[in-house]
Amino acid sequence: MWMNLVQSQIEACYNGRLKELEENYAGVSVLYDYVRDTWLWQKEKFVYAWTNKVLHFGNATTNRTEGVHNVLKKELGTSRGHFEDVFNAIHKVLTHQQNNLEASFNRSMHIVVHEFQHRMYNNIVGFVSKHAFDVISREARLVSEGGVGHDFSLCGYVLRVTHGLPCAHEISIYMLDGNLIGLDESYPHWKKLNMMPIEPTSDGELDNLYRVEMDGVEAKYKSCGPDMRVKIVQKLREITCPASTLLSVPEEELATKGRPKKKGKNLKMKMSKSKKFAVDNSTKRDSFGF
Ligand SMILES: [Zn+2]
Repeated sequence: MWMNLVQSQIEACYNGRLKELEENYAGVSVLYDYVRDTWLWQKEKFVYAWTNKVLHFGNATTNRTEGVHNVLKKELGTSRGHFEDVFNAIHKVLTHQQNNLEASFNRSMHIVVHEFQHRMYNNIVGFVSKHAFDVISREARLVSEGGVGHDFSLCGYVLRVTHGLPCAHEISIYMLDGNLIGLDESYPHWKKLNMMPIEPTSDGELDNLYRVEMDGVEAKYKSCGPDMRVKIVQKLREITCPASTLLSVPEEELATKGRPKKKGKNLKMKMSKSKKFAVDNSTKRDSFGF
């Protein structure tokens, strides 16, 4: 009954369930008083009818923070450590966290295409996080199995508002029209798949970053041996001439032309041996997408 109350999607529903709770526990007023005075006076912070109006990316509880805090406490052991020990313990936890993040970025960029068979995902495969994909495909099941059509009153824009991702009625329109979900439909949070401290905001800034990276490539090329030089040239060819590398799906396997192939992703596409996932005409693309 308590969980039902917390999971009330709209205020009217919440009020009805609250009345029910009050009636059920009329004989145990101390219990009802506790719930009301300790918890429900701040219902806006945890009842879905209110939290569904906030962009929280799925972080509606403090579980993640508590989990990380717990890991840090275990690593620190006693609270009375030498500064250097404490520093090293925190550094170890942060390094571990960074490695996990990089691994998850990598998984997201090399997502296995057959997990998302519908062609409407073609524009965003490899450009948004795996978790965002899972959330969108769960929402898509509401359309196919839950009977939510393109009536927004049934999905209530909840996923759009709380996660910045296409909600059920929007997905149903994509399905109906046969269009691809555009990359712009996902909030930037889901497209951050690298450890760069900032995203370039202008072409000039991007040009500068490009030159720094290219200078780095040249310096690396000049300083390394023949084997590594071959690898560097191969990597560059994957970008400049994808059709000449094994990472590219041959044109004849593709139904149509499409946006530039993403490194690695096309290998997965090739391995899937499925023409279903051929990249379609794209209308939108990320400025960093290659
Ligand atoms: Zn909707």
